[in-house]
Amino acid sequence: RTGKKQVTSCQASNNGHEIIPREVHGICDTIVGVLGRMLCQVASQMAIKVMVLDPLENCPASAVAYKHVVGSFDDGATVEDFAKRCGVLTVEIEHVDVATLEKLEQQGVDCQPKASTIRIIQDKYLQKVHFSQHGTPLPDFMQIDDLDSAKRAGELFGYPLMIKSRRLAYDGHGNAVAHSEEEISSSVSVLGGYDRGLYVEKWAPFKKELAVIVARGRDNNISCYPVVETIHKDNICHIVKAPADVSWKIRRLAADVAQKAVSSLEGAGVFAVESFLTKDGQILLNEVAPRPHNSGHHTIESCLTSQYEQHLRAVLGLPLGDPSMKVPAAIMYNLLGEEELAFFLLSFYRINSGELGFSLAHQFIGRALNISGASIHWYDKPEMRKQPRWAI
Ligand code: ATP
Ligand code: MG
Ligand code: MG
Repeated sequence: RTGKKQVTSCQASNNGHEIIPREVHGICDTIVGVLGRMLCQVASQMAIKVMVLDPLENCPASAVAYKHVVGSFDDGATVEDFAKRCGVLTVEIEHVDVATLEKLEQQGVDCQPKASTIRIIQDKYLQKVHFSQHGTPLPDFMQIDDLDSAKRAGELFGYPLMIKSRRLAYDGHGNAVAHSEEEISSSVSVLGGYDRGLYVEKWAPFKKELAVIVARGRDNNISCYPVVETIHKDNICHIVKAPADVSWKIRRLAADVAQKAVSSLEGAGVFAVESFLTKDGQILLNEVAPRPHNSGHHTIESCLTSQYEQHLRAVLGLPLGDPSMKVPAAIMYNLLGEEELAFFLLSFYRINSGELGFSLAHQFIGRALNISGASIHWYDKPEMRKQPRWAI
């Protein structure tokens, strides 16, 4: 995955946690990226061998993985070959070749979570249909195939109207907002046209966005992390406040909705449930990720069991850990791109383009680490991508 962001994680304490090393003979595949890297980091503490499949030779996980197989996770033959070498197969991104995963499951390969879950999640429209059939509260939604159906949706749901791509969406790439009927066509073009497979959602005038990481073990045991507030910037999760500053009742409702949503899916692992808190105190589900999530980075330092360790425990059938926070509160700040980094440092550092990545990064790290209890996670991503922006 080539999302372009760096992340820092800061909280009130950075106590290390003690893990007894043990031999686990499951070889686990996590497919690409930073989440995979963090999974590998915790796996190495427990001597769990994580083999990763990623097309990039210097992918974030490669330095810490037990083994890195360079190859495409979109390619059925490559995934099949790779799966044969694994004890358990898991993912850190839902945009994978699910037909191959289904085939592998039929051949007895142990995929966690199950391919059926990945199939539902990777198509956001199917996801909405699935959760509405399971009684989960969510914004009204409707599939659109052409301008007429989009206009009908606008009449039904009003404006602004959220238009979403069914597939391959992340960090808001796949979302566009039409503020009026006249804007529908341009918003649809931004997304690549109706043929890409689109649907619309009624605008959710949320007071806050909340997220809950829910873990489910192979024995169907479920465990919920504290509800957090997520603040997005240009559609990317920018700040996470843990726990969310909402009433006990709202936390309970958000956790309840999240737990029920996850119970309707198959397989073990951690799942992130994103939701909207409306002004009248309702919780509406936004989407579910069947994997560790950026709203759970803070758990590395702030919880008794990190989401990554929990994911490993879940998919390998080990006992789930305690998800409670070990500090009163934590905040995660996601540093997005060099522009923002430069904003932090420009006052005292003269940018030299040749040294930009290295020097800015290390100046920043040096500054952040002056804060007691702050931890930093530097992704070292090679490039930054421009984000979609909208205003209402
Ligand atoms: P992610 O990186 O979380 O996978 P994504 O590309 O799947 O992001 P969404 O989570 O669907 O995108 O939406 C991104 C953001 O857009 C949400 O966090 C929220 O701020 C806003 N948003 C999404 N749907 C709606 C809606 N129906 N009404 C209002 N705002 C919305
Ligand atoms: Mg998403
Ligand atoms: Mg989202």
